[in-house]
Amino acid sequence: MADIVLRKVSKMFGDGTAVVRDVDLEIADGEFVILVGPSGCGKSTTLNMVAGLDDITSGDLLIGGERVNERAPRERDIAMVFQSYALYPHLTVAENIAFPLRLARLDKPSVAARVAEVAALLELESLLDRRPANLSGGQRQRVAMGRAIVRRPRAFLMDEPLSNLDAKLRVQMRAVVSRLQRRLGTTTVYVTHDQVEAMTLGDRVVVMRSGAVQQVAAPRELYERPVNLFVAGFIGSPA
Ligand code: ADP
Ligand code: MG
Repeated sequence: MADIVLRKVSKMFGDGTAVVRDVDLEIADGEFVILVGPSGCGKSTTLNMVAGLDDITSGDLLIGGERVNERAPRERDIAMVFQSYALYPHLTVAENIAFPLRLARLDKPSVAARVAEVAALLELESLLDRRPANLSGGQRQRVAMGRAIVRRPRAFLMDEPLSNLDAKLRVQMRAVVSRLQRRLGTTTVYVTHDQVEAMTLGDRVVVMRSGAVQQVAAPRELYERPVNLFVAGFIGSPA
């Protein structure tokens, strides 16, 4: 069964022009889906509607088979990571990651086990006692990811999480993101405007333009059989 379903989801702001138009998408349990497209095409707005941070103007959003259009963000069991990350400055790395579990009143041994698991996947084991001020940008972003995913949400949403990092670090972080997703198997929607990221990270890629979905396909299919010139040009396929 599809875990997250968008049916003709649209978003209009103020003057009535749709910034997201009739988006249809079914995301399977455990799938890693990438939303890609040029700046301003509606990627963040789409992700925010799934998270409940933006209202849906029309259409339906289903999570686990239930319509959740009106459900508050915290009742959707979704974790989100943004380009800029706000860690708790007075807490250590371990305490930052553990924070959502403490809120949920998980017992101490379980908290310790979960934090250790996530820290290992994100290569943060040697940094657990540090505070955010003493971390690099890439390390901070890994802590933010750990804190988001540690409570095992139904879905993990990331909005351009690597775009503040330099090119070399971005390449390293792709491998980390990929491993985290594969190991934990959390349904993930990842927004990027970076074609390489789009074509290497996910199971399927959703190409957007001006608020509308152009094509949804596995990277290889997208490359070999782009449906139009926009997709071909954007992905850089030979068609
Ligand atoms: P992307 O993430 O692909 O760069 P966004 O989803 O942020 O695109 O934005 C899509 C379009 O919606 C843009 O044209 C943007 O200017 C517009 N937009 C985003 N948020 C608002 C808002 N709160 N009010 C009006 N327009 C908005
Ligand atoms: Mg955006």
